[in-house]
Amino acid sequence: MNANLFAALRAAFPADLDRPAIECADGEQAGLVYSWRDIERATAMMANLLESLDLPAGSRVAVQTEKSVEALMLYLAVLRAGYVYLPLNTAYQAAEIEYFIGNAEPAVVVCAGRNFGWVSKLAFQAGTQYVFTLNEDRTGTLLDRASAMSDQHEIAHKTADELAAILYTSGTTGRSKGAMLSHGNMLSNARTLQDYWGWQADDVLIHALPIFHVHGLFVASHGALLNGSKMIWFARFDPRATIARFGEATIFMGVPTLYVRMLAEPTLTPAACAHMRLFISGSAPLLIETFRDWQQRSGHTILERYGMSETIMLTSNPYRAEDGERRGGTVGFALPGVGVRVQDDAGAPCPVGEIGHIQVRGPNVFAGYWRMPEKTREEFTADGWFKTGDVGQCDARGYFTIVGRSKDLIISGGYNVYPAEIEGFINEMPGVAESAVVGVPHPDFGEAVVAVLVPKPGAALDGAAVVAALKSRIANFKVPKKAFVVEALPRNTMGKVQKNLLREQHKALFA
Ligand code: ATP
Ligand code: MG
Repeated sequence: MNANLFAALRAAFPADLDRPAIECADGEQAGLVYSWRDIERATAMMANLLESLDLPAGSRVAVQTEKSVEALMLYLAVLRAGYVYLPLNTAYQAAEIEYFIGNAEPAVVVCAGRNFGWVSKLAFQAGTQYVFTLNEDRTGTLLDRASAMSDQHEIAHKTADELAAILYTSGTTGRSKGAMLSHGNMLSNARTLQDYWGWQADDVLIHALPIFHVHGLFVASHGALLNGSKMIWFARFDPRATIARFGEATIFMGVPTLYVRMLAEPTLTPAACAHMRLFISGSAPLLIETFRDWQQRSGHTILERYGMSETIMLTSNPYRAEDGERRGGTVGFALPGVGVRVQDDAGAPCPVGEIGHIQVRGPNVFAGYWRMPEKTREEFTADGWFKTGDVGQCDARGYFTIVGRSKDLIISGGYNVYPAEIEGFINEMPGVAESAVVGVPHPDFGEAVVAVLVPKPGAALDGAAVVAALKSRIANFKVPKKAFVVEALPRNTMGKVQKNLLREQHKALFA
């Protein structure tokens, strides 16, 4: 059997290939509809182009282009031809691209036409053989060259453990690492989610996420493709335009900030969401307030799940009511077939409800970091579990809660302080929109707790008053020594708060 992920996706295409597969919702392509046949033909032509280049087995194809249907097809074509796909964040500039290209040594690089000059220079210096362009408006040398190729292509034969993609992590805690994912990692996870989230024959997915990250590229696209479901495709997220399409769709996936932005739209009503079946959130913690507001405003309960580049999805709140309720503030149960455990610092299992390190194993867990054997060894336990770097707990019913990252854990005066707990108290205070709690060096305590607060629109916040209010609610060692009021928290392109930047900014506070 061919374990190529594309073979499984292709087998799920509907029998009638002329049915709509992807409908563009915005930009110049708005209204354009791609059929399943279009996907079949374009991926065959692009795969034939790649094969015509005589690349060595295992060659990487690095891609930095704006989101487009052609870019998704290029991903599928790389799978189809049996090479290794390497998506790059569209926000990355020269220094970052130089690092990724130097690190991954791709044989082929595909970039936007306007970046060709500097990208090709970096790529050729790093030994890349071919640089193609692909633009949002369906132009560029990649499509020019592919258009001359045959639209018949036999899917490359792959085993389940052969490499399919290298996904660089978001770089929230430091330099991005390339997670090596196999065809088997991705297919096993996609099948598990198809079942767990109850994908149905007539589902329609609104795809509004970037496609250089695990959420948009794997969870969302694989979900729809493996189910033969149509996608309504937004190249850029627009809250009002998205809500306007809810009447034709059934599933939406977003990072928490997308939900926050839609909540600011008066058009978000239960009636506007009546046709929808499922709203899914992940990539960063969903505030309980957003969870509750969404319930009220849309009539739907967001299903929050948890995963990462190295493992794709790990846990999920239940879809079916008989499996349990969707609990705000938790990331739900371990997915079927995925092992998730909580360990203490000494490597012993934590009792129910106690906070510890989250470790995982399963068919979805990656083979290691690209060209970082040391780092890979460090991140696996002796008995083969991957250390996620996240800290959390599991309750008696099996619901997991993430309380933060081990790198963000604060040790103040010898006590462990979990930022998420304090943020929870702060966020409930009047006038607070959100907050981030970090540890900074302190001569007496080792680290001191510092809070950074964002006020609600129009609210006046006083950092000292927030600190004073906390004193009567939580133990003194957890109370921030100082609270700063800012307009916005620093976030990376996936909407994740970059606490390393906050720590850096305030590191001299008590020095
Ligand atoms: P880096 O590893 O480079 O520091 P990163 O961990 O942010 O960056 P990703 O692999 O994109 O890179 O993100 C995975 C992380 O996102 C998880 O380890 C976890 O900390 C966080 N995450 C994902 N989903 C959730 C969720 N539902 N709730 C809380 N955190 C989440
Ligand atoms: Mg990470």
